[in-house]
This record gives sequence, structure tokens and C-alpha cells, in this order.
Amino acid sequence: MCEKVWEMETESVCPICLKRIPGKKHQGNAGIFMEKKCPEHGEFKTLIWRDTADHYRGWNTQRCSGAETEADTPCPEGCSHCRAHRQEICCVLLELTNACNLNCPICFAQAGEGRIWSLSMEDIEKRYAYMLDNGGPYNIQLSGGEPTLRDDLPEIIALGRRMGFDYFQLNTNGLRLAEDYDYLLALKEAGLTCIYLQFDGVTEEPYRHLRGRSLLHIKEQVIENARRAQMGVVLVPTVIRGVNLDQVGAILKYALINQPVVRCVHFQPASHFGRFDVDAPGLPLTIPELLRNIERQTGGQMKSGDFSGGGAENPYCSFHTRYIKEKDGCLKVIKGEGGCCSSSQSQDYVKMRWAWPEVPKGCCETEGDALDSFLYDMAYHSLAVSGMAFQDCENLELSRLQKCYIAVAQEDALIPFCAYHLTNRRGEGLYP
Ligand SMILES: [Zn+2]
Repeated sequence: MCEKVWEMETESVCPICLKRIPGKKHQGNAGIFMEKKCPEHGEFKTLIWRDTADHYRGWNTQRCSGAETEADTPCPEGCSHCRAHRQEICCVLLELTNACNLNCPICFAQAGEGRIWSLSMEDIEKRYAYMLDNGGPYNIQLSGGEPTLRDDLPEIIALGRRMGFDYFQLNTNGLRLAEDYDYLLALKEAGLTCIYLQFDGVTEEPYRHLRGRSLLHIKEQVIENARRAQMGVVLVPTVIRGVNLDQVGAILKYALINQPVVRCVHFQPASHFGRFDVDAPGLPLTIPELLRNIERQTGGQMKSGDFSGGGAENPYCSFHTRYIKEKDGCLKVIKGEGGCCSSSQSQDYVKMRWAWPEVPKGCCETEGDALDSFLYDMAYHSLAVSGMAFQDCENLELSRLQKCYIAVAQEDALIPFCAYHLTNRRGEGLYP
């Protein structure tokens, strides 16, 4: 008698009308697929996990499930601190402007389209205040468009600091930070925590493909400037099969060479929202495939098994681990940290991984006891490797959305990131 085929119910949305519809996950030849059917628009199928059902179930290491409550309005239309949301928010994106100094063929934010706007300082203050009234302070991601187009960015950070926020991450393409060192210093002085730098590869090809021009020399200059200013950098590659999936190992090697200024590599397997034409919506890049590439391309120095799913967010949204580079150049994996359910712990974890390293007083490399030496290595020779797979209209699961801990700040709402950016196949979204 044959074994019962693994199957699981889920809830998703129709990729045409974005209405909530039931779906089923099951094991197929290439991996785990989700199938769903809209009464109006028919049947849809997409690959969500390029591995076996055992691997898929084993990845679910969630330690807390959060509160089970009834929804005010059904997700994803009514998303904003709705009672069905099962996770506190950790991280809030503050979109400061939609202006950008690149015109990337791929853009989550669809920057530079339509009317160009910038939030006034008064609007920014209102958003900070709203966050504080609604569970804040949160970790702030200064975002856009390209936030460094604003000369008043140091004042925006200083205002947030005065109001009680203590983590500011700058999501940037690096163009201004490469050429304007004084601006970087002013940001640091104001209280910037780290630079979250688009970094798609160690050759020019991925930049020409994804960003429309050569940018590697710009990225290298940002890293040099950050080293000089003692500002931590997170390298953020948008990874696409056929464009730069073959560079993930080289990017990690580059990060290891550039410690301690590079604190983390945070991969973003590309999903379909924003300005991104998809030829094959049925075959996205999933987490297991990315991890296998990391293992193969680092010659097994980093292994798939070193990584685990998120604990604060839904485990299927992310992966993370941390390594220490030992004196002989070998990597030692540090497991079992981070991924806590409490949002404050998760916020601290991000701070520890991504900011410029702080070494406890009295600790130095050559003297001191074993603990000192360990703390020094953790501070100066550790590299966090993580990633997040955003959801789109093809693969969205409401159970994942309800655990989202990244929100986008609105005047009177904090909307989960993937709901905010959710668009149907025609590019029409639920939120403005
Ligand atoms: Zn439909």
C-alpha cells in the first residue's frame, strides 16, 4: 500500500482579484506546491518550497504561536493592528520620499512613478507619535524611494531619537554615501545605527541587469566610507535565478573579507511585487534552493543545516544563522540565538547583529581570558547571514501574513509589509 501523500489546507488570495480564497499545499515532483481556486478566475498553482514535505515540516520550528483572536476585517484588506494579527511589530518602514536617483527595472517601492512626494517633518513627527501610541518604540527603517535624497535626514533621525526611538537603519542604494562622507558623518552623529545597502553581486553584471547601470565601485566606496566612520553595513542582495543566484557564495566571501564593517548579509529572494515583470510566475526562488546554493558555492563552509526559520515571524518567511571566523579562517556556526517571540528581544537581536560592534570594556584581542577572547571574536569576527522571502499574490498565505513583524508606517496605521506591497498580476494593489 502506498504512503498517504502529504497535503495541508491553507488560505491565500486570488492573483487576479486578490480576494481571499482557500488553498491546498501538497508535495509534487519539484517540491511543495500551493494550489488554489477562485470561483471567478479559476485555478492557480505555484511552487512554494523546493524540497520535500519532510524538510518543509521540519523547517517549522516556531516556539510561540501568539494570540488566537477573531479578525476585525478579513485579511489582507483590513490589515493594521487587526485583532487577527498574531505578532507584535518589531520593525517599521518609514517611507520618507518616493524620489529615487536610480531607475531600477526591479523596484519594490515603485519609486519615481507618478507624483514625486516627500513627507514633511510634521508628517514624520505624526508618524513617530502614532507608533509610540501603538506599541512603539520600534526599530525604524528609513526607506523610500531613496531616503538619502533628503538633506534633512540627520534631523529626521535626531527627531526620532528625541522621541524615544533608538534604532535607525538606512535602506539605501549607496550613491550619496559613496560621494558625500560628511553626510554619512552627520547621519552617524544624529544616531544612525546601520546602513542597509543594496548589494547585488561582486561583478557589474547583476547591477546592470537589476539596477540599469554599473554600481559595484559605488558599493565598494560606501563600505570604505562606513569603515572610516565606524558604521555597520548590512549587504542586501536581491537574488534572482539566472541573474545573480550564482554569486551568493562570492558575496558571502566578500562579506567575510570586509569584517567587521560588514555585519550581515541579508538575502532577498525576489518576489513578484513592484516593478518586476515575471515570465514564469510558477517557479519562484524559494528558501531551500537559496540555501543549497550557499552551501555549494561556499564549498560547504556554510551548510543548509546551519540555518533555521524565523522565530518571531512565520518561519517560512525567513532564515538566519551566525558564524565566527576562527583564526585558521574556518567558520564556526553559532546556533540557537535570536528568533524570539517577544518583539523587544527580536529588536535587540537585530541591533546586536547589525550595528558597529561594541566590545565590553577591558576586553581586547591579545590579552584577557577565554570569555574576553570569545566576546572579541563575536564582536569583530562574526557574520550574520539571513534572508527574507517576501510574499506575493501567487504564494501568499494568510498564516504567514498574520505573523508579519515588519510594518509600513501610515498616518494612522501600521500595515504588514507584504499586505502593503501586495499587487495582483496587473500590478494593482490593495493599499495606495
Ligand atoms: Zn479571483
